[in-house]
Amino acid sequence: MPRPRIHKLPPLLDRKIYKTGQTRGADDDVIFQNRVARSSTVLIPYNAWPQCRVPSTTERTYENGYIVLLSPTEYFASPTIAEQLRATGLALGQNTLVFYETREQWNANNPETLGWSPASQRQGALGGQYVARVPATTAAPKIVRGFNSTTMKGAGIRVYEYARSITIEQCRSQLEALYWMCRDSNEAATSNGMTPDDASSRRARTLENCQTEGLLDKDRLRNYRIINANDRTICPLCLDELSAHGFFSRMAQAAGREVPDLTVTQLNLFHIEELRTGVLNHRPYNVGWGHHHCNVVVKDSGVTETLRWMREIIDRNIRDGHLPASNSGK
Ligand SMILES: [Zn+2]
Repeated sequence: MPRPRIHKLPPLLDRKIYKTGQTRGADDDVIFQNRVARSSTVLIPYNAWPQCRVPSTTERTYENGYIVLLSPTEYFASPTIAEQLRATGLALGQNTLVFYETREQWNANNPETLGWSPASQRQGALGGQYVARVPATTAAPKIVRGFNSTTMKGAGIRVYEYARSITIEQCRSQLEALYWMCRDSNEAATSNGMTPDDASSRRARTLENCQTEGLLDKDRLRNYRIINANDRTICPLCLDELSAHGFFSRMAQAAGREVPDLTVTQLNLFHIEELRTGVLNHRPYNVGWGHHHCNVVVKDSGVTETLRWMREIIDRNIRDGHLPASNSGK
């Protein structure tokens, strides 16, 4: 018997889940690519090369390669730099570039007078020895060299945003399951264009697929504060149950079906342990959904560190008499 076809998610939700596999946005003038797959070529600062040489203990290579970036100081201050690089598997123009970020660096060792070319490839021979992103001053225009045409805009992604394709897909599957585990997910899906039957069947299929793939281990999800004891999706910082309406912007809600509840806030991808160089933290049991506001507070510190910081603030405010010891007091 053919399996019933899987129905499409409302476009806004579909897009939100899809984007979790992409890196954050970058400006034109920086060296990073703007919203590309997390599996793209990674940029590794030279000082992080020892810890980032392989992605993890179980992943031996980066799917689309890597480029190690040296500062001009690191490169030009050492007469034996070529040997040092070779000793750690690096070679200028092959997998390593000098990255100019300031005008002082540019003037001190101008790559054009050295006969160097700006790099033009992300993999294989890089086609040059350097890349430059030097901001303009009142006296001089900006210097942008290498990876600056539309298709090559940005040399690569931040190494800590990397995840291989299969991990990106597992995260997407689990993140969709977490949508359906919100207490009002069916209702929010139907107010955004799905029929009740389509929503129920997609929900059932998604949860089932995740379990088949070895995802959706509820104990682990509870442990990592992604769901609560009732198997409802929660914000990893404030632990509030999430309303699925938060996945849809207000404007996109069907006319006449707007949610009057002002507490409905935007929801974002949430990394429980922050993304940082040396670990791969975009992985199924480290991603959940949380309030935009809570995400802003956690930022690059991680949930545990943020809670410690919050407690210090609260304790100090209580101690100094600016806050009652409990919210029930006056
Ligand atoms: Zn929250």
